[in-house]
Amino acid sequence: MTSQYTFDAVIFGGGMVGATLAKGLARQGKNIAIVEPHIPQFDITTPAPDLRVSAISLGSENLLRELGIWSGLQKLRLKVYDTLSVWELPEFKTQFMASELQLSHLGHLMENVHLQQAALMSLDEHDCVSMFASGSLIDAKSGEVELDGKVSQAKVIVAADGGNSPLRQQMQFPISGWQYQQQVFAINIKLECDSGNHTWQQFFETGPRAFLPLYGQYASLVWYCAPEQVNLLKSLSDNELEAEICASFPALSAQFTILKTASFPLKRLHAHQYVKDRVVLVGDAAHIINPLAGQGVNLGFQDVSALLNALGKLTESNVSSVLKDYEAARKFQNLKMMSVMDGFYAGFSNQHLPLKALRNIGLALADKAGTLKNMALKQALGI
Ligand SMILES: Cc1cc2nc3c(=O)[nH]c(=O)nc-3n(C[C@H](O)[C@H](O)[C@H](O)COP(=O)(O)OP(=O)(O)OC[C@H]3O[C@@H](n4cnc5c(N)ncnc54)[C@H](O)[C@@H]3O)c2cc1C
Repeated sequence: MTSQYTFDAVIFGGGMVGATLAKGLARQGKNIAIVEPHIPQFDITTPAPDLRVSAISLGSENLLRELGIWSGLQKLRLKVYDTLSVWELPEFKTQFMASELQLSHLGHLMENVHLQQAALMSLDEHDCVSMFASGSLIDAKSGEVELDGKVSQAKVIVAADGGNSPLRQQMQFPISGWQYQQQVFAINIKLECDSGNHTWQQFFETGPRAFLPLYGQYASLVWYCAPEQVNLLKSLSDNELEAEICASFPALSAQFTILKTASFPLKRLHAHQYVKDRVVLVGDAAHIINPLAGQGVNLGFQDVSALLNALGKLTESNVSSVLKDYEAARKFQNLKMMSVMDGFYAGFSNQHLPLKALRNIGLALADKAGTLKNMALKQALGI
């Protein structure tokens, strides 16, 4: 078969990560194709927020600004947060404040679909980007792909097709990971007042519970539960669920109305290698992290940044070495963050009394740790 087109990169997956990478490559003047079977429909006139939301760190915001994606976001649908609190017993709180680092804010909370759409729409101004609704990999060594039924050639093929990555599976990348014995039960609520700029997380015997303020009066509650408890919560009437929420989120003081709920399975996954022949993994295709500290897509954006650096030096003859540079820049960093999150998760799930006392003292000390605390915060913000 003869190839119809030649691309510098074909990206499978136009999610938040794939679309952002596409924008960066387009700005480098690269000829690229994106395969995305589900183009999002984000409608700013829908009054209530979508259930899939993310905390986008200051580091990610900087990248999105640099690439010209941030300006396409609808300011009305963003919520800025400047304070983050974590505790188990209310007397032993750690509080991170933007002002401690002389920053105006720590990040923004927004709907995933909103950010994905802004990234995809920002591609309209580039003639070097082609969108396809379907495609498949034919040969990873030569870079042959099929796009909407036509054969094309790509120097690099990117798997940005999410946690279940069909491309990663087709290429049989070795992975390790597990399914946690818990799920996340997410509840969108509307408060009687503005939801504020303070996000918090309290640890309980059964797992963390978090409050994420969204635009205006909206907010999202994140409740780690055993699957049986999720089923029980799903079976409750709104009044019954409201009573459960009031009892289970003691720090939530404002009146609220429940809008919608959904549950998400909790998984950890890490690919042992990020590169095979011309195929490279980014974002959730390479790693799924416990969403405990809202790091998932932020790590994906750090992948994007490293891959843009590497592909900036791409020529006909150095594909393998630039992809290896990217892998070297990201694999250990991602693994480190995943392990830290799992350490927190396991440490706070243990009700052994001395350990419980120790971690609460640890949280209180962390609050006073000055430079160390600021370093941890900077790491989490990706700055
Ligand atoms: C409950 C929960 C809360 C979270 N909160 C946060 C948070 O606060 N902050 C944070 O940073 N992260 C958070 N995350 C993680 C974050 O949602 C993910 O890291 C992020 O969505 C990954 O983006 P992605 O673009 O890599 O993959 P995805 O968002 O999964 O996008 C993959 C894209 O690939 C497309 N695709 C699928 N199959 C194919 C195919 N065969 N060919 C082509 N395209 C295909 C899909 O249509 C999709 O558009 C959370 C996750 C969960 C579960």
